[in-house]
Amino acid sequence: MHKIPMSNPIAELDGDEMTRILWQMIKDTLLVPFVELNTEYYDLSLPNRDATGDQITRDAAEAIRRLHVGVKCATITPNQKRMEEYNLRQMWKSPNGTIRAALDGTVFRAPIVTKRITPHVSNWKKPITIARHAYGDVYRDVEYRVPCPGTAKLVFEGDDGTSWSEPVFRFEGSGVLQGMHNRDDSIRSFARACFAFALDLKQDLWFSAKDTISKRYDGTFRDIFAEVYENEYREAFEKAGITYFYTLIDDAVARVMRSEGGFVWALKNYDGDVMSDMVSAAFGSLAMMTSVLVSPDGNFEYEAAHGTITRHYYRWQKGEATSSNPVATIFAWSGALRKRGELDDNQPLIRFGDSLEQAVLDTIDDGVMTGDLAQLCGCEGVETQVFLDAVAQKLGNLLRS
Ligand code: NAP
Ligand code: MG
Repeated sequence: MHKIPMSNPIAELDGDEMTRILWQMIKDTLLVPFVELNTEYYDLSLPNRDATGDQITRDAAEAIRRLHVGVKCATITPNQKRMEEYNLRQMWKSPNGTIRAALDGTVFRAPIVTKRITPHVSNWKKPITIARHAYGDVYRDVEYRVPCPGTAKLVFEGDDGTSWSEPVFRFEGSGVLQGMHNRDDSIRSFARACFAFALDLKQDLWFSAKDTISKRYDGTFRDIFAEVYENEYREAFEKAGITYFYTLIDDAVARVMRSEGGFVWALKNYDGDVMSDMVSAAFGSLAMMTSVLVSPDGNFEYEAAHGTITRHYYRWQKGEATSSNPVATIFAWSGALRKRGELDDNQPLIRFGDSLEQAVLDTIDDGVMTGDLAQLCGCEGVETQVFLDAVAQKLGNLLRS
């Protein structure tokens, strides 16, 4: 079969452990046989981040900005245990955090829904897309362990001489203290990304925060969303027959549980972190969740929402066959290649992305799936390579038809 050409490359960010193994299997089985794969390769494995002083991660973020499309494998975020395991020079920061900060993006996460697997929440009929603000709050906080009695204050010193100070708490003993921030421009681009994404999907947009308690902080989020909606998106939303609505986070949680799905739910950084795991678990598995980072200036990074599946990797190292689910990583590739096709007006590449996803869904519908999914529908799971071969078979048929 004639391979599909790619006129421009995408940034390819390789990663760690089991997902690194899956990465190569996916390329060998589903991509290279069908596409003249054109990528700029960045090895973000922990040993290489350590060897390059993490320069490789900054280079990769720059490449996504330059090429507008990237695809990323899961990577280890080091902790003390990893420091020892990999004999690291430094406890490198989360690559995802570095890339998010460089692209100032919003992360959209959506479950991959198949006919075979029914969500644990029985009234959820359509996917719920979580839009997570990828900047600030507790992820960029300053924390202090208060050792003794004393007074904590919040202080601001403006460059123009403005000064403001307010007591936070008078400690009579030890305790903890935390300072957080966010920026209007980051919140505004988050809001724009959410409105644009909802419009693209033709789905309602919900936004929730805790503005009754956090009147200034969360109130600012609510106000900026309202202002962006009124000034920039109301008309387009009404024309598309979709709505925007703001509600308190606790009210939103209750409504989400009773809903049938099919909307975009925008959340602050921490809320988005927590709620995306809840949504993915309810729809079946973290391995069935796509994740795309969209920056306000039109750059896209596709990845799987799960980690490096360490436990499977340790088994794989011992020579045991594993049944790790490659679906989210395949969808990262299909999303990135389709986006490359859209930006370059490369119809065959767009069709390839669509066909690859269709082939995955058809394979699962036929009852061929990895152990994590098999468990959910009471059938027998297959090894990863067996699943990939079944997908490749269907993909070939779809592309030839
Ligand atoms: P994880 O890799 O997502 O795995 C947690 C468990 O979920 C696995 O042990 C497995 O359960 C199940 N699982 C996740 N993905 C699966 C898949 N594709 N197929 C089958 N089962 C799957 O999370 P973790 O163990 O907490 O983290 C491992 C490493 O990943 C950490 O070093 C962390 O820093 C990193 N991480 C990276 C990213 C990222 O790069 N985006 C995100 C999160 C975590 P069973 O063992 O029960 O089968
Ligand atoms: Mg998380």
